[in-house]
Amino acid sequence: MRYLSTRGHADRKQFCEILLEGLAPDGGLYLPERYPQLGPAELQNLRQVWQSQGYAALAFEVLSLYIDDIPRDDLKALCQKTYTSAVFGTPEIVPLKPLKRAGQSQAELLLEALSNGPTLAFKDMAMQLLGNLFEYELARRGETLNILGATSGDTGSAAEYAMRGKKGVRVFMTSPHGRMSPFQQAQMFSLLDENIHNMAIEGVFDDCQDIVKAVSNDLAFKQRYKIGTVNSINWARLLAQVVYYFAGYFQATQSDLQKVSFTVPSGNFGNVCAGHVARMMGLPIDRLVVATNENDVLDEFFRTGVYRVRGTADTHETSSPSMDISKASNFERFVFDLLDRDGVTTKEIFGAGLQQKGCFDLSADPRFAKAAAVFGFESGRSTHSDRLKTIQQVYANYGVMIDTHTADGVKVAQEHLKPDVPMVVLETALPIKFAATIVQALGRQPDRPPQFEGIEALPKRVHVMKADVNLVKAFIQQHCD
Ligand SMILES: *Cc1c(COP(=O)(O)O)cnc(C)c1O
Repeated sequence: MRYLSTRGHADRKQFCEILLEGLAPDGGLYLPERYPQLGPAELQNLRQVWQSQGYAALAFEVLSLYIDDIPRDDLKALCQKTYTSAVFGTPEIVPLKPLKRAGQSQAELLLEALSNGPTLAFKDMAMQLLGNLFEYELARRGETLNILGATSGDTGSAAEYAMRGKKGVRVFMTSPHGRMSPFQQAQMFSLLDENIHNMAIEGVFDDCQDIVKAVSNDLAFKQRYKIGTVNSINWARLLAQVVYYFAGYFQATQSDLQKVSFTVPSGNFGNVCAGHVARMMGLPIDRLVVATNENDVLDEFFRTGVYRVRGTADTHETSSPSMDISKASNFERFVFDLLDRDGVTTKEIFGAGLQQKGCFDLSADPRFAKAAAVFGFESGRSTHSDRLKTIQQVYANYGVMIDTHTADGVKVAQEHLKPDVPMVVLETALPIKFAATIVQALGRQPDRPPQFEGIEALPKRVHVMKADVNLVKAFIQQHCD
Protein backbone atom coordinates (compact mmCIF):
# COMPACT_ATOMS: atom_id res chain seq x y z
CA MET A 1 0.00 0.00 0.00
CA ARG A 2 1.26 3.45 -0.95
CA TYR A 3 0.11 6.79 0.44
CA LEU A 4 -0.57 10.01 -1.43
CA SER A 5 -1.16 13.63 -0.48
CA THR A 6 -4.62 15.22 -0.67
CA ARG A 7 -3.02 18.13 -2.53
CA GLY A 8 -1.87 16.16 -5.51
CA HIS A 9 1.91 15.85 -4.85
CA ALA A 10 3.43 13.17 -7.10
CA ASP A 11 5.23 11.30 -4.28
CA ARG A 12 3.95 7.94 -3.13
CA LYS A 13 5.14 6.78 0.28
CA GLN A 14 5.06 3.72 2.47
CA PHE A 15 3.41 3.51 5.87
CA CYS A 16 6.56 3.78 7.98
CA GLU A 17 7.74 6.78 6.00
CA ILE A 18 4.63 8.77 6.88
CA LEU A 19 4.38 7.36 10.42
CA LEU A 20 6.84 9.88 11.85
CA GLU A 21 5.93 12.70 9.46
CA GLY A 22 3.22 15.31 9.90
CA LEU A 23 1.91 16.97 6.77
CA ALA A 24 2.87 15.96 3.25
CA PRO A 25 5.49 18.22 1.60
CA ASP A 26 2.77 20.18 -0.24
CA GLY A 27 0.85 20.81 2.99
CA GLY A 28 -1.70 18.08 2.27
CA LEU A 29 -2.70 15.12 4.41
CA TYR A 30 -1.79 11.54 3.64
CA LEU A 31 -4.37 8.99 2.51
CA PRO A 32 -3.97 5.50 1.08
CA GLU A 33 -3.97 5.36 -2.72
CA ARG A 34 -7.13 3.28 -2.48
CA TYR A 35 -9.26 1.77 0.25
CA PRO A 36 -8.99 -2.03 0.43
CA GLN A 37 -12.39 -3.51 -0.44
CA LEU A 38 -13.99 -6.13 1.77
CA GLY A 39 -16.49 -8.48 0.13
CA PRO A 40 -18.89 -10.79 1.98
CA ALA A 41 -16.22 -13.47 2.55
CA GLU A 42 -13.71 -11.01 4.02
CA LEU A 43 -16.31 -9.43 6.30
CA GLN A 44 -17.40 -12.85 7.50
CA ASN A 45 -13.78 -13.70 8.21
CA LEU A 46 -13.25 -10.49 10.19
CA ARG A 47 -16.38 -11.19 12.22
CA GLN A 48 -15.01 -14.62 13.06
CA VAL A 49 -11.63 -13.19 14.02
CA TRP A 50 -13.36 -10.71 16.32
CA GLN A 51 -15.57 -13.38 17.89
CA SER A 52 -12.91 -16.03 18.38
CA GLN A 53 -9.73 -14.00 18.96
CA GLY A 54 -10.85 -10.55 20.05
CA TYR A 55 -9.85 -6.96 19.48
CA ALA A 56 -6.07 -7.24 19.08
CA ALA A 57 -6.43 -9.89 16.37
CA LEU A 58 -9.09 -7.81 14.60
CA ALA A 59 -6.78 -4.79 14.77
CA PHE A 60 -3.98 -6.81 13.20
CA GLU A 61 -6.22 -7.96 10.33
CA VAL A 62 -7.42 -4.42 9.56
CA LEU A 63 -4.00 -2.78 9.96
CA SER A 64 -2.25 -5.34 7.80
CA LEU A 65 -4.42 -4.25 4.86
CA TYR A 66 -2.68 -0.87 5.09
CA ILE A 67 0.78 -1.68 6.42
CA ASP A 68 3.12 -3.82 4.33
CA ASP A 69 6.49 -2.51 5.51
CA ILE A 70 6.41 -4.05 8.97
CA PRO A 71 6.82 -7.86 9.05
CA ARG A 72 3.46 -9.48 9.82
CA ASP A 73 4.67 -11.17 13.00
CA ASP A 74 6.01 -7.88 14.34
CA LEU A 75 2.78 -6.04 13.55
CA LYS A 76 0.79 -8.78 15.22
CA ALA A 77 2.97 -8.55 18.33
CA LEU A 78 2.54 -4.75 18.42
CA CYS A 79 -1.26 -5.13 18.29
CA GLN A 80 -1.23 -7.81 21.00
CA LYS A 81 0.96 -5.66 23.22
CA THR A 82 -1.28 -2.62 22.75
CA TYR A 83 -4.83 -3.90 23.10
CA THR A 84 -4.85 -5.80 26.38
CA SER A 85 -7.50 -5.85 29.08
CA ALA A 86 -4.82 -4.65 31.52
CA VAL A 87 -4.56 -1.38 29.55
CA PHE A 88 -8.19 -1.01 28.39
CA GLY A 89 -10.09 -2.39 31.35
CA THR A 90 -12.13 -5.17 29.73
CA PRO A 91 -11.42 -8.21 27.52
CA GLU A 92 -13.71 -6.73 24.82
CA ILE A 93 -11.61 -3.51 24.86
CA VAL A 94 -14.59 -1.58 23.31
CA PRO A 95 -17.78 -3.14 24.75
CA LEU A 96 -21.21 -1.89 23.65
CA LYS A 97 -23.50 -0.59 26.39
CA PRO A 98 -27.19 -0.62 25.40
CA LEU A 99 -29.23 2.36 26.61
CA LYS A 100 -32.41 0.49 27.45
CA ARG A 101 -35.31 1.33 29.74
CA ALA A 102 -36.27 -1.22 32.37
CA GLY A 103 -38.80 -3.66 30.88
CA GLN A 104 -38.07 -2.72 27.26
CA SER A 105 -36.64 -5.31 24.92
CA GLN A 106 -34.96 -2.91 22.51
CA ALA A 107 -32.26 -0.41 23.20
CA GLU A 108 -32.80 3.12 21.99
CA LEU A 109 -29.09 3.62 21.45
CA LEU A 110 -25.86 1.72 21.93
CA LEU A 111 -22.85 3.41 23.50
CA GLU A 112 -19.49 2.09 22.30
CA ALA A 113 -17.15 2.37 25.27
CA LEU A 114 -13.86 3.75 23.92
CA SER A 115 -12.74 5.51 27.07
CA ASN A 116 -11.46 2.89 29.46
CA GLY A 117 -7.81 3.32 28.55
CA PRO A 118 -5.21 4.97 30.80
CA THR A 119 -6.46 8.56 30.36
CA LEU A 120 -10.20 7.85 30.13
CA ALA A 121 -10.74 9.34 26.66
CA PHE A 122 -10.98 7.61 23.28
CA LYS A 123 -7.66 9.11 22.20
CA ASP A 124 -5.92 6.28 24.07
CA MET A 125 -7.26 3.83 21.47
CA ALA A 126 -4.98 5.26 18.81
CA MET A 127 -2.26 6.84 20.91
CA GLN A 128 -1.34 3.62 22.72
CA LEU A 129 -0.72 1.95 19.37
CA LEU A 130 1.21 4.99 18.14
CA GLY A 131 3.52 4.76 21.17
CA ASN A 132 4.37 1.17 20.35
CA LEU A 133 4.75 1.87 16.62
CA PHE A 134 7.06 4.82 17.31
CA GLU A 135 9.26 2.82 19.66
CA TYR A 136 9.46 -0.01 17.12
CA GLU A 137 10.26 2.16 14.12
CA LEU A 138 12.76 4.41 15.94
CA ALA A 139 14.65 1.36 17.20
CA ARG A 140 14.67 -0.10 13.69
CA ARG A 141 16.15 3.12 12.32
CA GLY A 142 18.42 3.79 15.30
CA GLU A 143 16.87 7.24 15.71
CA THR A 144 15.32 9.27 18.51
CA LEU A 145 12.40 11.70 18.51
CA ASN A 146 11.32 14.59 20.71
CA ILE A 147 7.59 15.08 20.59
CA LEU A 148 6.51 18.66 21.14
CA GLY A 149 2.84 19.37 21.63
CA ALA A 150 0.20 21.73 22.96
CA THR A 151 -2.82 20.45 24.80
CA SER A 152 -5.95 21.72 26.46
CA GLY A 153 -6.39 18.33 28.11
CA ASP A 154 -7.11 15.04 26.38
CA THR A 155 -4.45 14.84 23.67
CA GLY A 156 -1.53 15.69 25.91
CA SER A 157 -2.32 13.17 28.56
CA ALA A 158 -3.06 10.45 25.99
CA ALA A 159 0.30 11.13 24.33
CA GLU A 160 2.19 11.09 27.62
CA TYR A 161 0.63 7.86 28.84
CA ALA A 162 1.38 6.29 25.46
CA MET A 163 5.03 7.43 25.32
CA ARG A 164 6.02 7.12 28.99
CA GLY A 165 8.99 4.85 29.40
CA LYS A 166 9.31 4.29 25.64
CA LYS A 167 12.85 4.07 24.31
CA GLY A 168 13.96 6.72 21.84
CA VAL A 169 11.10 9.11 22.58
CA ARG A 170 10.79 12.17 24.81
CA VAL A 171 7.61 14.20 25.22
CA PHE A 172 7.58 17.98 25.79
CA MET A 173 3.99 19.02 26.38
CA THR A 174 2.80 22.59 26.82
CA SER A 175 -0.56 23.36 28.44
CA PRO A 176 -2.18 26.59 29.64
CA HIS A 177 -1.23 27.08 33.30
CA GLY A 178 -4.17 26.52 35.64
CA ARG A 179 -6.73 26.02 32.89
CA MET A 180 -7.13 22.27 32.67
CA SER A 181 -9.53 20.55 35.04
CA PRO A 182 -7.91 19.53 38.36
CA PHE A 183 -8.29 15.90 37.34
CA GLN A 184 -6.55 16.47 34.00
CA GLN A 185 -3.71 18.36 35.68
CA ALA A 186 -3.26 15.57 38.17
CA GLN A 187 -3.24 12.97 35.39
CA MET A 188 -0.47 14.67 33.47
CA PHE A 189 1.67 16.23 36.15
CA SER A 190 1.85 13.13 38.35
CA LEU A 191 3.82 11.33 35.63
CA LEU A 192 7.38 11.17 36.90
CA ASP A 193 8.89 9.23 33.99
CA GLU A 194 12.23 10.61 32.87
CA ASN A 195 11.14 11.01 29.25
CA ILE A 196 8.00 13.05 30.04
CA HIS A 197 8.25 16.83 30.46
CA ASN A 198 5.29 19.08 31.27
CA MET A 199 5.49 22.81 30.69
CA ALA A 200 2.63 24.89 32.11
CA ILE A 201 2.59 28.09 30.07
CA GLU A 202 1.31 31.30 31.63
CA GLY A 203 -1.29 32.01 28.98
CA VAL A 204 -4.13 30.35 27.09
CA PHE A 205 -4.18 27.33 24.80
CA ASP A 206 -3.52 29.47 21.71
CA ASP A 207 -0.28 30.73 23.29
CA CYS A 208 0.83 27.12 23.66
CA GLN A 209 -0.06 26.35 20.08
CA ASP A 210 1.75 29.44 18.82
CA ILE A 211 4.88 28.37 20.69
CA VAL A 212 4.75 24.89 19.15
CA LYS A 213 4.33 26.40 15.69
CA ALA A 214 7.19 28.83 16.23
CA VAL A 215 9.53 26.04 17.34
CA SER A 216 8.50 23.86 14.38
CA ASN A 217 9.09 26.74 11.98
CA ASP A 218 12.69 27.06 13.19
CA LEU A 219 13.92 24.35 10.83
CA ALA A 220 17.48 24.32 12.16
CA PHE A 221 16.25 23.80 15.72
CA LYS A 222 13.69 21.27 14.57
CA GLN A 223 16.33 19.18 12.82
CA ARG A 224 18.97 19.47 15.46
CA TYR A 225 16.57 18.42 18.22
CA LYS A 226 14.53 15.99 16.09
CA ILE A 227 11.22 17.61 16.92
CA GLY A 228 8.11 15.69 15.95
CA THR A 229 4.40 15.72 16.73
CA VAL A 230 1.55 13.34 17.45
CA ASN A 231 -1.37 15.46 16.31
CA SER A 232 -4.57 14.08 14.95
CA ILE A 233 -3.62 14.45 11.29
CA ASN A 234 -1.24 11.50 11.74
CA TRP A 235 -2.52 8.72 9.46
CA ALA A 236 -1.54 5.98 11.92
CA ARG A 237 -3.83 7.47 14.55
CA LEU A 238 -6.72 7.57 12.14
CA LEU A 239 -6.04 4.01 10.97
CA ALA A 240 -6.06 2.68 14.53
CA GLN A 241 -9.50 4.24 14.97
CA VAL A 242 -10.93 2.41 11.95
CA VAL A 243 -10.73 -0.84 13.92
CA TYR A 244 -13.34 0.06 16.53
CA TYR A 245 -15.96 0.78 13.88
CA PHE A 246 -15.60 -2.88 12.90
CA ALA A 247 -15.75 -4.05 16.52
CA GLY A 248 -18.82 -1.86 17.14
CA TYR A 249 -20.54 -3.13 14.01
CA PHE A 250 -19.91 -6.80 14.83
CA GLN A 251 -21.29 -6.34 18.33
CA ALA A 252 -24.41 -4.49 17.16
CA THR A 253 -25.36 -7.04 14.47
CA GLN A 254 -25.85 -10.75 13.98
CA SER A 255 -25.20 -10.80 10.25
CA ASP A 256 -23.27 -8.77 7.71
CA LEU A 257 -26.52 -8.05 5.85
CA GLN A 258 -27.57 -5.63 8.60
CA LYS A 259 -26.69 -1.96 8.65
CA VAL A 260 -25.65 0.21 11.59
CA SER A 261 -25.32 3.99 11.96
CA PHE A 262 -22.73 5.78 14.08
CA THR A 263 -22.94 9.17 15.76
CA VAL A 264 -19.58 10.73 16.55
CA PRO A 265 -18.88 13.71 18.86
CA SER A 266 -16.55 15.65 16.58
CA GLY A 267 -13.91 18.35 16.73
CA ASN A 268 -11.01 17.90 14.35
CA PHE A 269 -12.92 15.29 12.33
CA GLY A 270 -10.37 12.52 13.03
CA ASN A 271 -12.73 10.13 14.76
CA VAL A 272 -15.56 10.32 12.24
CA CYS A 273 -13.09 10.28 9.35
CA ALA A 274 -12.03 6.82 10.55
CA GLY A 275 -15.70 5.84 10.25
CA HIS A 276 -15.68 7.15 6.69
CA VAL A 277 -12.65 4.97 5.92
CA ALA A 278 -14.38 1.89 7.39
CA ARG A 279 -17.49 2.63 5.31
CA MET A 280 -15.38 3.08 2.16
CA MET A 281 -13.89 -0.36 2.80
CA GLY A 282 -17.36 -1.86 2.64
CA LEU A 283 -18.36 -2.05 6.30
CA PRO A 284 -22.19 -1.85 6.14
CA ILE A 285 -22.56 1.56 7.82
CA ASP A 286 -25.82 3.31 7.00
CA ARG A 287 -25.10 6.85 8.18
CA LEU A 288 -22.26 8.69 9.89
CA VAL A 289 -23.73 11.44 12.02
CA VAL A 290 -21.36 14.27 12.95
CA ALA A 291 -22.23 15.83 16.31
CA THR A 292 -20.75 19.22 17.20
CA ASN A 293 -21.17 21.57 20.14
CA GLU A 294 -21.62 25.35 19.80
CA ASN A 295 -18.48 25.31 17.63
CA ASP A 296 -20.45 24.10 14.65
CA VAL A 297 -18.11 24.57 11.66
CA LEU A 298 -18.78 20.98 10.57
CA ASP A 299 -22.53 21.00 11.13
CA GLU A 300 -22.74 24.15 9.06
CA PHE A 301 -20.85 22.49 6.21
CA PHE A 302 -23.05 19.41 6.08
CA ARG A 303 -26.19 21.55 6.22
CA THR A 304 -25.16 24.19 3.70
CA GLY A 305 -22.04 23.23 1.74
CA VAL A 306 -20.19 26.24 3.19
CA TYR A 307 -17.06 25.65 5.25
CA ARG A 308 -16.31 28.74 7.30
CA VAL A 309 -13.32 28.70 9.62
CA ARG A 310 -13.88 30.62 12.85
CA GLY A 311 -11.54 33.20 14.31
CA THR A 312 -10.22 32.88 17.85
CA ALA A 313 -12.81 35.40 19.03
CA ASP A 314 -15.62 33.34 17.50
CA THR A 315 -14.51 30.07 19.04
CA HIS A 316 -16.69 29.33 22.06
CA GLU A 317 -15.27 27.94 25.29
CA THR A 318 -17.78 25.21 26.08
CA SER A 319 -18.39 22.44 28.59
CA SER A 320 -17.31 19.94 25.92
CA PRO A 321 -13.89 21.58 25.53
CA SER A 322 -12.24 18.85 23.46
CA MET A 323 -14.61 19.78 20.64
CA ASP A 324 -13.86 23.51 20.81
CA ILE A 325 -12.18 23.92 17.45
CA SER A 326 -12.16 26.78 14.97
CA LYS A 327 -11.24 24.59 12.02
CA ALA A 328 -11.24 20.82 11.65
CA SER A 329 -7.72 19.70 10.80
CA ASN A 330 -8.73 16.30 9.37
CA PHE A 331 -11.60 17.56 7.26
CA GLU A 332 -9.45 17.89 4.16
CA ARG A 333 -9.29 14.10 3.90
CA PHE A 334 -13.04 13.76 3.51
CA VAL A 335 -13.35 16.71 1.12
CA PHE A 336 -10.66 15.12 -1.09
CA ASP A 337 -12.84 11.99 -1.37
CA LEU A 338 -15.99 14.07 -1.82
CA LEU A 339 -14.33 15.83 -4.77
CA ASP A 340 -13.56 12.47 -6.39
CA ARG A 341 -9.97 12.76 -5.19
CA ASP A 342 -9.34 15.93 -7.16
CA GLY A 343 -6.05 17.10 -5.61
CA VAL A 344 -5.93 20.32 -7.65
CA THR A 345 -9.24 21.60 -6.30
CA THR A 346 -8.45 20.36 -2.78
CA LYS A 347 -5.21 22.29 -2.87
CA GLU A 348 -6.99 25.38 -4.11
CA ILE A 349 -9.70 25.46 -1.47
CA PHE A 350 -7.66 24.31 1.56
CA GLY A 351 -4.42 26.04 0.63
CA ALA A 352 -4.28 29.68 -0.41
CA GLY A 353 -8.08 29.92 -0.70
CA LEU A 354 -8.77 29.10 2.92
CA GLN A 355 -5.89 31.24 4.12
CA GLN A 356 -7.12 34.29 2.23
CA LYS A 357 -10.87 33.98 2.54
CA GLY A 358 -11.29 31.78 5.60
CA CYS A 359 -14.00 29.80 3.84
CA PHE A 360 -15.04 27.83 0.79
CA ASP A 361 -18.44 27.14 -0.68
CA LEU A 362 -19.37 23.84 -2.34
CA SER A 363 -23.12 24.45 -2.25
CA ALA A 364 -23.30 24.91 -6.02
CA ASP A 365 -20.97 21.98 -6.76
CA PRO A 366 -22.98 18.92 -7.78
CA ARG A 367 -20.52 16.77 -5.80
CA PHE A 368 -21.67 18.32 -2.50
CA ALA A 369 -24.94 16.35 -2.63
CA LYS A 370 -22.89 13.15 -2.44
CA ALA A 371 -21.85 13.92 1.15
CA ALA A 372 -25.23 12.67 2.30
CA ALA A 373 -26.41 10.60 -0.66
CA VAL A 374 -23.23 8.60 -1.33
CA PHE A 375 -21.06 8.99 1.77
CA GLY A 376 -23.90 8.81 4.31
CA PHE A 377 -23.03 11.96 6.27
CA GLU A 378 -25.54 13.79 8.44
CA SER A 379 -24.97 16.25 11.25
CA GLY A 380 -26.34 18.15 14.19
CA ARG A 381 -25.28 20.45 17.01
CA SER A 382 -25.75 20.69 20.73
CA THR A 383 -25.47 23.42 23.35
CA HIS A 384 -24.60 23.62 27.03
CA SER A 385 -28.25 23.35 28.08
CA ASP A 386 -28.71 20.36 25.70
CA ARG A 387 -25.74 18.69 27.39
CA LEU A 388 -27.15 19.19 30.86
CA LYS A 389 -30.56 17.88 29.78
CA THR A 390 -29.08 14.87 27.99
CA ILE A 391 -26.84 13.94 30.91
CA GLN A 392 -29.87 14.12 33.22
CA GLN A 393 -32.13 12.20 30.86
CA VAL A 394 -29.64 9.37 30.19
CA TYR A 395 -28.96 9.02 33.91
CA ALA A 396 -32.66 9.05 34.85
CA ASN A 397 -33.89 6.78 32.05
CA TYR A 398 -31.05 4.32 31.73
CA GLY A 399 -29.01 4.67 34.90
CA VAL A 400 -25.89 5.48 32.86
CA MET A 401 -23.65 8.49 33.49
CA ILE A 402 -22.15 10.05 30.36
CA ASP A 403 -19.61 12.81 29.89
CA THR A 404 -20.28 16.14 28.18
CA HIS A 405 -18.85 15.17 24.76
CA THR A 406 -20.75 11.90 24.67
CA ALA A 407 -23.84 13.90 25.64
CA ASP A 408 -23.41 16.01 22.49
CA GLY A 409 -23.37 12.72 20.58
CA VAL A 410 -26.44 11.27 22.29
CA LYS A 411 -28.44 14.48 21.79
CA VAL A 412 -27.72 14.55 18.07
CA ALA A 413 -28.16 10.77 17.68
CA GLN A 414 -31.67 11.00 19.12
CA GLU A 415 -32.54 13.36 16.28
CA HIS A 416 -31.31 10.89 13.65
CA LEU A 417 -32.86 7.57 14.69
CA LYS A 418 -34.34 5.28 12.03
CA PRO A 419 -36.42 2.21 12.78
CA ASP A 420 -34.53 -1.05 12.29
CA VAL A 421 -31.08 0.54 12.05
CA PRO A 422 -29.19 0.33 15.35
CA MET A 423 -27.52 3.62 16.29
CA VAL A 424 -24.12 3.44 17.97
CA VAL A 425 -22.84 6.55 19.75
CA LEU A 426 -19.11 6.68 20.37
CA GLU A 427 -18.35 7.39 24.03
CA THR A 428 -15.36 9.70 23.76
CA ALA A 429 -14.54 10.32 27.44
CA LEU A 430 -15.64 9.33 30.94
CA PRO A 431 -17.57 11.82 33.12
CA ILE A 432 -14.85 12.05 35.80
CA LYS A 433 -12.72 14.12 33.39
CA PHE A 434 -15.37 16.86 33.30
CA ALA A 435 -16.72 16.65 36.83
CA ALA A 436 -17.87 20.27 37.20
CA THR A 437 -20.54 19.95 34.50
CA ILE A 438 -21.68 16.58 35.85
CA VAL A 439 -22.19 18.17 39.26
CA GLN A 440 -24.14 20.95 37.58
CA ALA A 441 -26.35 18.44 35.75
CA LEU A 442 -26.82 15.76 38.39
CA GLY A 443 -25.96 17.40 41.68
CA ARG A 444 -23.44 14.69 42.45
CA GLN A 445 -19.83 13.82 41.71
CA PRO A 446 -19.21 11.40 38.84
CA ASP A 447 -17.95 7.91 39.57
CA ARG A 448 -14.20 7.64 39.72
CA PRO A 449 -12.45 4.49 38.45
CA PRO A 450 -10.54 3.00 41.41
CA GLN A 451 -7.10 3.45 39.83
CA PHE A 452 -7.63 7.23 39.94
CA GLU A 453 -8.52 7.41 43.62
CA GLY A 454 -6.60 10.29 45.21
CA ILE A 455 -4.49 11.25 42.17
CA GLU A 456 -4.85 14.95 42.97
CA ALA A 457 -2.65 14.36 46.03
CA LEU A 458 0.22 12.62 44.19
CA PRO A 459 3.57 14.42 43.82
CA LYS A 460 3.68 16.52 40.66
CA ARG A 461 6.44 17.45 38.24
CA VAL A 462 5.67 20.46 36.06
CA HIS A 463 7.63 23.50 34.94
CA VAL A 464 5.68 26.74 34.96
CA MET A 465 7.02 29.28 32.50
CA LYS A 466 6.18 32.51 30.70
CA ALA A 467 4.69 32.27 27.20
CA ASP A 468 8.07 32.77 25.52
CA VAL A 469 9.29 30.53 22.74
CA ASN A 470 12.95 31.03 23.76
CA LEU A 471 12.27 29.69 27.24
CA VAL A 472 10.66 26.61 25.73
CA LYS A 473 13.58 26.07 23.35
CA ALA A 474 16.06 26.48 26.18
CA PHE A 475 14.14 23.93 28.23
CA ILE A 476 14.20 21.41 25.39
CA GLN A 477 17.94 21.96 24.82
CA GLN A 478 18.69 21.51 28.47
CA HIS A 479 16.89 18.13 28.53
CA CYS A 480 18.36 16.81 25.28
CA ASP A 481 22.02 17.77 25.36
C1 LIG B 1 -10.55 14.72 20.85
C2 LIG B 1 -11.92 14.58 21.39
C3 LIG B 1 -13.08 14.72 20.58
C4 LIG B 1 -13.00 15.14 19.13
O1 LIG B 1 -12.47 14.14 18.29
P1 LIG B 1 -11.96 14.49 16.82
O2 LIG B 1 -11.28 13.26 16.34
O3 LIG B 1 -11.04 15.66 16.96
O4 LIG B 1 -13.17 14.82 16.00
C5 LIG B 1 -14.32 14.49 21.15
N1 LIG B 1 -14.44 14.16 22.45
C6 LIG B 1 -13.36 14.01 23.26
C7 LIG B 1 -13.56 13.66 24.69
C8 LIG B 1 -12.07 14.20 22.77
O5 LIG B 1 -11.00 14.07 23.58
